[in-house]
Amino acid sequence: MTPFKPHISAMQAYRPGEQPAPGSGAIKLNTNENPYPPSPRVGQALAELGDEAMRVYPDPAAGELRQAIAALCDIPADWVLPGNGSDNLIVMIARACSGPVAIPVPTFPYYATQAAVENARLIEVPCLGEDLQVDVAGLIAAGAAVTFLANPNSPTGQMLDADALDTLAAGLDGLLVIDEAYIDFAPADGLPALRQHENVLLLRTLSKGYSLAGLRFGYALARPALLEGLWKTKEIYNVSAATQAAALAALEDQDWKTHNARRVLAGRAELARELGNRGWRVWPSEANFLLTRPQQPSAGELADALKAAGILVRLFDTPTLPAALRITVGTDEQNRALLEAIDNC
Ligand SMILES: *Cc1c(COP(=O)(O)O)cnc(C)c1O
Repeated sequence: MTPFKPHISAMQAYRPGEQPAPGSGAIKLNTNENPYPPSPRVGQALAELGDEAMRVYPDPAAGELRQAIAALCDIPADWVLPGNGSDNLIVMIARACSGPVAIPVPTFPYYATQAAVENARLIEVPCLGEDLQVDVAGLIAAGAAVTFLANPNSPTGQMLDADALDTLAAGLDGLLVIDEAYIDFAPADGLPALRQHENVLLLRTLSKGYSLAGLRFGYALARPALLEGLWKTKEIYNVSAATQAAALAALEDQDWKTHNARRVLAGRAELARELGNRGWRVWPSEANFLLTRPQQPSAGELADALKAAGILVRLFDTPTLPAALRITVGTDEQNRALLEAIDNC
């Protein structure tokens, strides 16, 4: 006898990218972490967390943090919902909303995972052409109750501009979730679309731009009427006192984040040029990674050879995206080590 619901037994589990133990010395270019450390203010805030803050429950609404986010985004504080990473907010959305759920393909797989957990119908809308542009008309035609759009998208690095976001939001009756995990590396954000459209919800995370993937903090931005149902599905104390203090310190150090994002963008341009010089196909990217297709050896062989050399990248080999590698932009030193390892393959 299995205790599980039939659709849970039948669904595919999410497969996270490989996480080698810290100190293993591996160069991790497979899950799009920021290669630079978080602001020193974060460690300081954690060191200063007192016994009292640990003894009592944290603020379930993360009030101080919401105020800081609202000020940064120039929106009211009741437009902000705190999450234990944006994954946690994707879970809340899937739990609270009815189906069907529409997604572009390829995209971040966790939207489909959570649709499957909720037994919602999934509508997959293939990206278009060699450039793998998100199919705006296709997503509108799908007419789903919830549409997820990673913008910039992963693994493609492509981004819809303000006009396309506007068309998409206006064309959908249902909820449009714009996942801005990579927005700190992109030229424009979805705040104008959020202000203009009642059905838009933005997801943000400190995992990428703020170098805090291990800390687990993300937030949703939407009108209070849209957040109301999500608050009901939120775990009560989903953001710990330590995370609230650390996230606040990180958000207060915008210069640190901006400086590191600039370094990543410079590294991205250099890496794209170097891989292009080696005959690789390199998709344009507005994020902190590059989608690439090597010539020789094949993507699969290269991923294995790089792993043997202590460098992890993410292999994509599906009908919609055959023989591709997604490579996170590392530090200059890591990028050089990558190129050297490629040349030795
Ligand atoms: C990395 C990533 C996330 C995960 O964010 P967390 O806040 O670490 O849960 C969400 N969406 C996309 C598109 C991502 O690439």
